[in-house]
Amino acid sequence: MSAPTRLAVGCHLSTSDGYAQMGRTALRLDASTFAFFTRNPRGGNARALDPDDVAELRQLMGEHGIGPLVAHAPYTMNLCSAKPETIDFARRAMAGDLERMESLPGNYYNFHPGSHVKQGIDVGIELICAGLNEVLVPGQGTTVLLETMAGKGSEVGRRFEELARIIEGTRHDELLGVCLDTCHVSDGGYDVAGDLEGVLAEFDRVIGLDRLRALHLNDSKNPCGARKDRHERIGQGHLGLDCFAAIVRHPLLRTLPMILETPNDLDGYAAEIAQLRALAGEREA
Ligand code: FE
Ligand code: FE
Ligand code: ZN
Repeated sequence: MSAPTRLAVGCHLSTSDGYAQMGRTALRLDASTFAFFTRNPRGGNARALDPDDVAELRQLMGEHGIGPLVAHAPYTMNLCSAKPETIDFARRAMAGDLERMESLPGNYYNFHPGSHVKQGIDVGIELICAGLNEVLVPGQGTTVLLETMAGKGSEVGRRFEELARIIEGTRHDELLGVCLDTCHVSDGGYDVAGDLEGVLAEFDRVIGLDRLRALHLNDSKNPCGARKDRHERIGQGHLGLDCFAAIVRHPLLRTLPMILETPNDLDGYAAEIAQLRALAGEREA
């Protein structure tokens, strides 16, 4: 008998008690992937990884089929800032994060492309490409994901065309993919709730679906096109439960790692993970 593949679904977890502890928490929540910040999300320096701790996480992941993981770069990282020192920090932070992630090869590193802060979208894209061309190392074990953005302020990455131009302008584009955030694309004007197939067809036409490597599952407090970026719990916002049911049942999407970034505590995440597994038709354990 062939049971449907188990979803790789999980949520953001804190690194404060170490990496192996994130794996144990994931198991407790019935999560089969998770996200974590590679350093303090507000910026600053990263702690060195403890090799024993990381080895223990890798063993847990192997034993229990957890992964691939979707690490998240700090929000403050802006590869297309107007300030040279901010760009410099962003490049050093990303290079350092990717170097540390070599101890967890085969996973993903997701980042917000950046905000061009009145320099215009063309300069923004140029600077992002320049940063990636400096930082990406051929043969590295981590695929870097550009996150689709809501288009708040001067965010680059609201339109699929912008992400396509970044990929095109980056030398080692074999190291790049896209993470689609359902709240962000809806806020950005793509009607994922009303026309999922249409949005995926547009993604395929502009970027190519082979680039789609991960999903951020968030409902939105605001209607399509609002450009606000306020996440809501699954089924409680403008996207609605049917949208997420369609996603977890979709043959092309259900195999991707899915990360919840909804306003929840761990119990709330466990409930959403169970809800998504039920919607996907997984049998109760
Ligand atoms: Fe994000
Ligand atoms: Fe996100
Ligand atoms: Zn967001």
